[in-house]
Amino acid sequence: MQVQCILCDQVDNIDKNSLLAKRLLNRRIGTYLCTTCHHRIAEKTQKRHETGKFKLYHPEDNNFQCSNESS
Ligand SMILES: [Zn+2]
Repeated sequence: MQVQCILCDQVDNIDKNSLLAKRLLNRRIGTYLCTTCHHRIAEKTQKRHETGKFKLYHPEDNNFQCSNESS
């Protein structure tokens, strides 16, 4: 079956018997993300977690955090 990525509108063909297809059809998940966007979001989430952790140890040092992001 054909599914469209909600972020980049790429259309993928997935096996309609796959777990992902069943979930989409059952509306257990309402959205489809292509592999590229999925990885991009996973990366962002990971970075946010790292930043969050960092903030915990240095709650006031914003300058240091900025230089960390740009490098
Ligand atoms: Zn996408």
